Amino acid sequence: AIDEEEDWSERGAAVAVAPGPNGPTSIRRTVKDFEFGKDLGEGSYSTVVLATDKITKTNYAVKVLDKKHIIKEKKVKYVNIEKHALNRLSGLNGIISMFFTFQDKDSLYYVLEFASNGELLGFIKTYGSLNEDCTRHFGAQILDAIKNMHDNGIIHRDIKPENILIDDKFRIRITDFGTAKLLERKKNGESGVEEEYPLDVRAKSFVGTAEYVSPELLESKYCGKPGDIWAFGCLLYQMIAGKPPFKATNEYLTFQKITKLQYAFSAGFPLILRDLIKQILVLRPSRRASIEQIQQHLFFEKCNFKDPDSIWNAKLP
Ligand code: ATP
Repeated sequence: AIDEEEDWSERGAAVAVAPGPNGPTSIRRTVKDFEFGKDLGEGSYSTVVLATDKITKTNYAVKVLDKKHIIKEKKVKYVNIEKHALNRLSGLNGIISMFFTFQDKDSLYYVLEFASNGELLGFIKTYGSLNEDCTRHFGAQILDAIKNMHDNGIIHRDIKPENILIDDKFRIRITDFGTAKLLERKKNGESGVEEEYPLDVRAKSFVGTAEYVSPELLESKYCGKPGDIWAFGCLLYQMIAGKPPFKATNEYLTFQKITKLQYAFSAGFPLILRDLIKQILVLRPSRRASIEQIQQHLFFEKCNFKDPDSIWNAKLP
């Protein structure tokens, strides 16, 4: 279960916790070990700053969260979810790595891998849209990253081009796990098979971003793994079209378009991708293409998902 009540009372010198294969391990690291540089961006509850490890000279993106602000805005739960999710996923292909966390009197610090090529959104905006090969390159990586999250019992619930960062080798890195759902793992005594039980798959309130939210979340507040697949379908569309499939002047109208499956392909939209997107943007989650079915689609014929390294070492076309 998620430990929502963590000790934030620590003062002064901070202990850094680094995730490792055998769970988090404590390594002494403090704010003083880093030289802080330019701001990389601002979130609602955080500032992300470029920082260099004084000894190794490695660059990191350090997410600095203001404790007082988080407590005042009642976001402690989300901040902890993000940390737990990253602890579980760090090191997997396609997920931003978290190397250390520490805190001082006023702030929490998450030391993250620095994704030097910014957000996928910026990339799409710079070029207006991406060609089929680029869409396949990023699409295959995003799909593999979603598989890694789902296999490890985490539903992201806010997949969108702002939350997909690109590193120096043009590999995607999914970030922003504040609204993720962590599934509990239970051992099935009989067969020894691990099963996953959602702690609460019925979202109490709207999570995610209007344009990428799934119809089942809008209709019945159900928010499971197929919701991430829906968002993936929206992303594939956006990489080619330059804009998401469901977009209107306000959230209400956007939601209407989603629940009525109102979207269209422009004249030049590649037929092979139309076919795939039509299998993903399906209202009923049980009828929506699964990750395996998407991997086997003709569009991804050139991608060998059985050998993930070939997907992650591929050069950007
Ligand atoms: P919110 O928390 O409100 O959803 P957000 O997700 O944009 O907003 P942050 O995750 O705090 O907030 O990120 C703020 C900015 O910093 C973003 O624009 C993002 O592009 C940039 N950023 C975040 N993490 C990294 C990273 N690891 N490498 C490079 N840039 C990053």
